[in-house]
This record gives sequence, C-alpha cells and structure tokens, in this order.
Amino acid sequence: MLNLFFDYTSSTPIDKEILTAYEKTLEKYYINSEALYSDGIEVKKMVETSREKIAKLFGVHKDEIIFTSGASESNNFAIKGYCLKNMHKGKHIITSKMEHSSMMNAIKQLESFFGFEVTYLDINENGCVNVEDVVDAIRDDTIVVSLMAVNNEIGSIQPINEIGKILKEKRICFIVDAVQAISKIELNFDVIDMLSCTTHKLYGIKGCGILYKKRNIELLPLINGGQQEQGLRGGTTNAPAAIVAFKTFRKAFENAKSHYDHVKKLNDYCREELSKIDDIVINSPVNNSIPYILNISCLSVNSEIMMNALNSRGICVSAQSTCASRTKTPSKTLKAMNKSDEIAYGAIRISLSHLHNFDDVKFLVSTIKEIVDEYRT
Ligand code: PLP
Repeated sequence: MLNLFFDYTSSTPIDKEILTAYEKTLEKYYINSEALYSDGIEVKKMVETSREKIAKLFGVHKDEIIFTSGASESNNFAIKGYCLKNMHKGKHIITSKMEHSSMMNAIKQLESFFGFEVTYLDINENGCVNVEDVVDAIRDDTIVVSLMAVNNEIGSIQPINEIGKILKEKRICFIVDAVQAISKIELNFDVIDMLSCTTHKLYGIKGCGILYKKRNIELLPLINGGQQEQGLRGGTTNAPAAIVAFKTFRKAFENAKSHYDHVKKLNDYCREELSKIDDIVINSPVNNSIPYILNISCLSVNSEIMMNALNSRGICVSAQSTCASRTKTPSKTLKAMNKSDEIAYGAIRISLSHLHNFDDVKFLVSTIKEIVDEYRT
C-alpha cells in the first residue's frame, strides 16, 4: 500500500510469519476437523493444541475458549446467548453509551424484540464509566453487565477489574469486549465471565475471533448445527484460522511491552505537536488511555473534510469507529462525554502502530497543520 496508514484500530496488516503459517495451513490442512480418519484427527489435534495454548496465555481453561468468526460474533453470542438462556432469572441489562455497534445493536435487539430493559450508562469527561454508576444501576433483576475494556474511538481504559470484582460478589454475569484491550492492558480473567477478541486487530487474519466463556456460564447457541465448539456453535471449524490464532496472540503478548514503549513515544510527540496547532483539541485522555489511539478534533475543519484532505495527501485516518463510518451521526463516544457538536463533528481518530517511525508521525502532524491553515484562510 502506498498510503501512510494511521487506522490500525480498524484493522492491521498481516504479520509475515503469520501469513506464511496461514498459507501453509490453508493449503495443507483442508480436511474437516470432525472427520474420523487420521488426517481429520490430525487437523483436530492442531486446532485443540492452539486452543490449549491460547487458554494458557490467557490463564484460563482450554474448554473456556470458543473459536468464532470475529469479535462481532463473539459479542452477539455472549450477550444474546446469555440473555436468552437466562431470561427466567431477570431481564435487566447494564451497558454503556459507548459500546461497539456489535454489542450495542445486539442489546437494542434484546430490548425491542425480547422485552429486556436496559440501563445505558453515561461516561465521564475522561471517556470512562464510573464504578459507582454501575453499582447504582444494579437491580434485583439485573442479570448481566456488558462493557468494553478499552474504547475504540478515544482509547480510554475502563475500570474493568474493579467493576468485575463487584459483579463477581453479586453473582452478576460480566461480559467484556476486549478487542482493543487484549495484550495492551492487564486483564483479570478471574472477574470476567465472558470476553471477546479478534485476531485481525493484532496483525493476524480476518474472520477469526475468540469468545472466552467461564465454565459455569450457560449460553443458548445462536448458530445451530453439529457438535463443533461443544455443540455451542455449529458449522465446519475454520481450522486454518484457529490453528494460526495462537501464533497471533503469542506474538502480540510477547511484543506487548516493546510495542507499547515505542508507540507511547510517538503518541507523546503527536499529542504535544498537534496541541500547538490553533483549533485542534485532543479528545483522548492523557492518563488512563492506551497510546495506540489518539483522537483529536479540529474546530475549523469537520471530520469528513479533514479525512478527505488527508486521504488526498496519502494519509488514512478514521473519523470514528469504522463500523459507523457511513453514518452521518457524530461519534457516540464523544457525544456521551458531553462534548460539543463542534468537537464531535470535527473528530478524527489517529491510530498508531509499532510499524510507524518518527518520520511518519512528523509527516502526519505537518500535513494536518497544512490542512488547518489552508481551510482557516
Ligand atoms: N468491538 C470493538 C471494540 C471493536 O473495535 C471491533 C472492531 O472494530 C469489534 C468489536 C468487532 O470486531 P470484528 O471486526 O472482529 O467483528
């Protein structure tokens, strides 16, 4: 790709080693992993080895890892599967106003078609859910709380471990969308009942997700079929994807510290230089956020114009979550933070990677400055 890519939050290029392993696996291990002849048994063994190693990396049991097609499926499976299976215990859900569309729209469906009641929590000026607000929202009929661990638009880190401890004591199921968090922040699986993640955000392949589900959690299957994934998710296993998933997570965990340190320096530079430009405000909180996402607003140039102007100069950024990129509504995260329309409509999300160097971010900053100067005059 010739463009300078600053949209790693939406997806990442495949790591060469993972691509090679995937191509090899795709070609060689095409046999259905449920087949009972020796080649099928071999493929099944490789899938199970990957599952076992991922479980070890996460510090959980092997049978708590379910392979899915991505985090959108994992989120749908977790919330709908749990609510539909457990609705006899209560019909109240707690979530926040900034969840990813795959969780938000699944919850809205439970609300409008299945009679669930939902509390949508506000978020504070730092882009976080307040722990006290979660506690205050709990009712006798609350069966589940669903929150993202790291916001995908501004990078704010949610108090997941603190909330998880409270919910564990109260025996309320806790679902965590960890797509932007896994390998980037410390997560305590002990206080999380279900967790979603996906490999394409971690330099792995598209179409491969994980749903971590504690043993005691019961779900209604959404994809009925055969015996695959403990009978919870039918359909021929995407064995090549599952087999290389471990390599993806292993590399992400192994490199987490060095990538973080490098990206933090790039983020600090961008933050400092961009805030010197008139009309630019930084929306990502200084503390308690991951350095991979830097959300800014330009008060004199709206998101779409800025994105197009950057695009025409060879730079790719998003205005908000890519899944909402075609809507004309402003960022729901910034609106939930009570930011003005001017800020919400002028927002762009810059996502940084270990693959960037200082020349890349210098070029980004100077190009944004050039565009702001051009449009202001
Ligand atoms: N949750 C969050 C926070 C995300 O950022 C994304 C992807 O953008 C998803 C869920 C959906 O992931 P997938 O593309 O694997 O369906």
